[in-house]
Amino acid sequence: MERATTVISPQDIQIQLDHCQAVAQLNARLPQPPLAFVDTYGCQQNEADSERIRGYLARMGYGFTQDEEEARVIVINTCAIREHAEQRVLGNLGALVHTKRRHPDQLICLCGCMAQEPRIAEKIRQSYRHVDLVFGPHTLWKFPEMLHTLLSHRGRIFQTADEAGSIAEGIPVVRQDQVKAWVSIMYGCNNFCSYCIVPYVRGRERSRKPEDILREVEELVRDGYKDITLLGQNVNSYGKDLAEPMDFADLLERVNAIPGDFLIRFMTSHPKDATQKLFETMARCEKVAPVLHLPFQAGNDRVLKVMNRRHTIAEYLDKIRALKALIPDIVLTSDVIVGFPGETTAEFEDTLKVLEAVRFDALFTFIFSPRPGTPAADMDDPMPREEKLRNFNRLVALQDQISEEKHRAYIGKTVRCLMDGESGDPDYPLTGRTPGNRLVRAAGPASAVGTFAQVEITGANKWSLFGRLR
Ligand code: SF4
Repeated sequence: MERATTVISPQDIQIQLDHCQAVAQLNARLPQPPLAFVDTYGCQQNEADSERIRGYLARMGYGFTQDEEEARVIVINTCAIREHAEQRVLGNLGALVHTKRRHPDQLICLCGCMAQEPRIAEKIRQSYRHVDLVFGPHTLWKFPEMLHTLLSHRGRIFQTADEAGSIAEGIPVVRQDQVKAWVSIMYGCNNFCSYCIVPYVRGRERSRKPEDILREVEELVRDGYKDITLLGQNVNSYGKDLAEPMDFADLLERVNAIPGDFLIRFMTSHPKDATQKLFETMARCEKVAPVLHLPFQAGNDRVLKVMNRRHTIAEYLDKIRALKALIPDIVLTSDVIVGFPGETTAEFEDTLKVLEAVRFDALFTFIFSPRPGTPAADMDDPMPREEKLRNFNRLVALQDQISEEKHRAYIGKTVRCLMDGESGDPDYPLTGRTPGNRLVRAAGPASAVGTFAQVEITGANKWSLFGRLR
């Protein structure tokens, strides 16, 4: 399973930029600038990848649209983590057969985690013949070359070989937001949790060099970004593969030292790799937001073992206690899977106990979704769907109650929030985030968007806080 990382050289990226230039010349002959539609499913890593796809497309002379009818290029960046997302992608992809019939010059591209799965690539090859280009995350850096080939020769391209994961610096980026930015610090995962497809489609862990990350953050701060999220499937493993190893806490410290008024967030963390050093660094670094997303997935040790999570609940709770001792107002969020194969309702109730012990601010909850190719997909799963659903509803009800109680505790306080957008709601026209990433809807002037503001919290529900700018 171990594979070396492919580091893409600056010369190879320059070749891709040359392909961008060649496509831009082709596009310049069109009566009007062509448009592209990039549709993104799944996690923030996919959002970050789509920003690079847009960066390449912009260099090729494309503008952007959300309307597939007017797009000459459609890129669907997919997620393989749950069956539901996969079905949505296949449904939307199927519908594009009609769009393409009306616009035969349209190019349809499928990329992301689903595209890297051999069974999906085969399905596209056989049954979705209107799709022109399929490529996995490993070959995203070659997108201009693939698109140029298609424009010059037509035909179909499938770039989905299971090759070593790559690291490519220097790909242009078009960001969607002007306040918040994603910065990938590493790619892939070595953990092989038994339900998860990520290590199979995104490859082994590989870290970007700290100097490349720091340069990117410095540029973002210079451009006025105020909320920077460091991304990786397991950021706590950062640096283990670097020639001069440094750990994630050291990286945080160095990002924190960049001058400017901005917040640093990060995700996702694996509990087994979350260290006391990380917690102390979070407590010490004033720009690191007081929030931790630490997935525990299940509250029962037997289930955790079958999930291959490699920690116990006692260890998880010890870490939470240590973190709360250092940062008493830490905002905690987590992921939970209900109905993992073989989980009994008694074992599920251990998950409820964890909720009561930790009192998370928010939870991302899922009913187990088998992913073909993972060990869990072949495990016996005797619990009926109705029982899973009943347990799921109990979990959501308990978390809703905790979230609402925690949110109500903000009422009467004034919190420094980053105002990040407009809502269209006449009573609360602004949206923002507390340092702990709680959603705030607030009354105040539109000119506050993109700034930190003191917000007096006047109301709350289980999803968000309400207030007014002071
Ligand atoms: S840590 Fe586990 S759940 Fe997270 S990406 Fe890696 S294998 Fe998947």
